[in-house]
Amino acid sequence: MKMGFLQNDLQKLEDLGLHRSLKTLDSPQGREIILDNRRVLNFSSNDYLGLANDARIKAAALEAIEEYGLGSGASRLICGNMDPHEKLETELAHFKNTPSSLVYSSGYMANTGIIPALMDRHSVVLSDRLNHASIIDGIILSRAKLVRYPHADVQALEDVLKNLPATQHRLIVTDTVFSMDGDKAPLKEIVEIADRYEAMVMVDEAHAFGVLGQHGGGLVEELGVGDKVDIQMGTLSKAAGCFGAYACGTKILREYLINKSRSFIYTTAIPPSLAQAARMALKIIQEGDQLRRDLQEKADYLRAKLKAMGFDTMNSSTAIIPILVKDPAVAKVMSQHLFSQGILAQAIRPPTVPVGSARIRLTVMATHTQEDLDQLLNAIRTL
Ligand SMILES: *Cc1c(COP(=O)(O)O)cnc(C)c1O
Repeated sequence: MKMGFLQNDLQKLEDLGLHRSLKTLDSPQGREIILDNRRVLNFSSNDYLGLANDARIKAAALEAIEEYGLGSGASRLICGNMDPHEKLETELAHFKNTPSSLVYSSGYMANTGIIPALMDRHSVVLSDRLNHASIIDGIILSRAKLVRYPHADVQALEDVLKNLPATQHRLIVTDTVFSMDGDKAPLKEIVEIADRYEAMVMVDEAHAFGVLGQHGGGLVEELGVGDKVDIQMGTLSKAAGCFGAYACGTKILREYLINKSRSFIYTTAIPPSLAQAARMALKIIQEGDQLRRDLQEKADYLRAKLKAMGFDTMNSSTAIIPILVKDPAVAKVMSQHLFSQGILAQAIRPPTVPVGSARIRLTVMATHTQEDLDQLLNAIRTL
């Protein structure tokens, strides 16, 4: 019974209310989906702007398949680097107002590729306690010393920096919008401190790219701190409705990552159709002021109503709205009840969030209607 521990461990998860299983989507992503053969209103996707099933993006991908075929057939450095990849990177850099950019196959691969390229076992990485798992994995792969500072606590961050040897390479890394809490990083303060202690700054804009900032450039654009952030990472898989990720920064950074970043080097280039689709998404995002305003208004409406009903939405100020329930089993039952009412609102439980902070996590889309929001609120009232 050398594999017997699998069943035992799964049973333990079941007993703790932490067991997870897959549901199957039988429709495109969107505000309304068919999940496990049930039509439900979707409050769990990251498709904030409704671009995952956008006709213009689909057309761009289809056209590119006709022109370039599907697979890229090799890694970027061998012979998989096609014109769409280069164009996408040029446009991303221009959009983010940085000298250059490099595309990765996913956000997970970007974080597990960028951090180990820059840091080694002599370095230290200061990471917000609530940073995404891919950042933590990147730090572990780098073998750098990991210091997790309390969530958004700039004083604690400064205290750590103060006591580091002057010559030690140090990197501060933070999500800009925290994926499970929906709050924003205190990025203005972070770049100031980083400046004082000569620390590099890396941001993960996964939930901010396309959503925050006047042109959708993320929290960095909203706060106007682009020139003070050394590595701007974000994904093309959320608001952009595609797949893949980017690292924006100096030309030297790009050259360095091309030479040193293992998750960039040792993987096949993304399909050219995906690069073409992402270019179209970028265009739509740049012209998406109205979409972003709609999204923020809808999120603010929902948050205000939930607060008035007495729910704890934590420090959320974005399209991600948690309803804190603490007990994972309760969160699961609430999510199941909402599902039976035709609402998808996933329960988020440890280890995705800290123990004792299980929650229902709602995400609003620009394409949700007023009726959608009110239907959700009515279902919550019957909990
Ligand atoms: C989703 C997410 C990622 C991973 O991005 P993928 O493109 O889905 O691999 C990384 N960081 C954060 C903060 C995320 O929310």
